Amino acid sequence: MRPFEWADATSVEQAVSLTVKGSAFKAGGVDLVDLMKERLFEPSRIINLNTMPDWNFIKDDASAGLKIGPLVTLAQLSEHDAIRKRYTALAQAAGHAATPQIRNMATLGGNLLQRPRCWYFRHEEFHCRKKGGERCFAQDGENQYHAIFNNSLCAIVHPSATATPLIAMGATLDISGKAKRTVPAEEFFTLPSVDLHRENQLEPGELITQINVPAPSANARSFYIKQGEKESFDWPVAEIAAVLEMDGDTCKKASIVLGAAAPVPRRAKEAEAALTGQKIDEKTTRAAAEAALKEATPLANNGYKVPLLRVVIARAILAAARGEGAA
Ligand SMILES: Cc1cc2nc3c(=O)[nH]c(=O)nc-3n(C[C@H](O)[C@H](O)[C@H](O)COP(=O)(O)OP(=O)(O)OC[C@H]3O[C@@H](n4cnc5c(N)ncnc54)[C@H](O)[C@@H]3O)c2cc1C
Repeated sequence: MRPFEWADATSVEQAVSLTVKGSAFKAGGVDLVDLMKERLFEPSRIINLNTMPDWNFIKDDASAGLKIGPLVTLAQLSEHDAIRKRYTALAQAAGHAATPQIRNMATLGGNLLQRPRCWYFRHEEFHCRKKGGERCFAQDGENQYHAIFNNSLCAIVHPSATATPLIAMGATLDISGKAKRTVPAEEFFTLPSVDLHRENQLEPGELITQINVPAPSANARSFYIKQGEKESFDWPVAEIAAVLEMDGDTCKKASIVLGAAAPVPRRAKEAEAALTGQKIDEKTTRAAAEAALKEATPLANNGYKVPLLRVVIARAILAAARGEGAA
């Protein structure tokens, strides 16, 4: 391993000023250390964010909504009473990711910014298009875990479980670098057609300083499902977060986001339109699932994701409408 410098961050300004070419921020370190072990990234300096004072907070206000510090761990999110009750899908997503040990280390900021798990991208011997090469090896290779949407340039799926409910809930991210800005989570993640070499619009030297989730309306309910091959120590093969605003049995507004399906968490606007103004029952949820999958372009080995998602989408919408899961 290449030697690197170590610096503890004590303020946003100092962390930003410590940034040099080839430096990396480290939160829980789960993904960063994997990338270093895989020799995909050899930082010249690691800027440790765990020493940031006051970056581990969850503030919930009935009207202002939720403010979350970037060092809050997935375990904290999944166990927080108000999040379980009013932002159910977020607690469920955090609670189903990875393993209990990893959830105790992994932070929300790092979870949103982890790199894709495509095995060609992660293998030092495959110089794929994402790493500056000329091919996406997944196109004609082992593509069973890859994208079924927007997969023609690069077939990664976005790995962040928490991004899916955060987008469905209309969250925004506060970002600080040389300047400050707030970006809707839905616009933060970028497709390979925008930039092949990264998955979001964070610039070098910029930090996520806070995650904001608007307060849900009194009749809003949400539900998240991760479908994996194993219950623990695994990434999903299909994910969905559904947020519904209900009026009795009728859906007034729907927000549906698919994970593990595309290079970014995919907002299923066709499904949302199919649900709005409709009574939520098995027929309408099936129609919404069909609509969500209309534009799917599966590869040779991941066609199974289409019928799988059809079931998982319908289940999550029904569960959200019934208010299941809100502890
Ligand atoms: C076996 C296994 C199974 C897994 N399963 C899942 C799963 O099912 N779902 C899922 O979502 N994830 C899964 N993961 C991934 C894991 O959740 C992530 O690696 C973890 O959330 C990353 O968080 P971290 O705090 O360790 O990030 P780090 O590794 O510290 O950082 C990740 C990236 O974010 C940057 N960064 C971190 N915080 C900030 C910040 N505030 N501002 C700017 N940059 C920042 C770092 O520079 C780095 O580039 C799994 C991992 C393993 C090993």
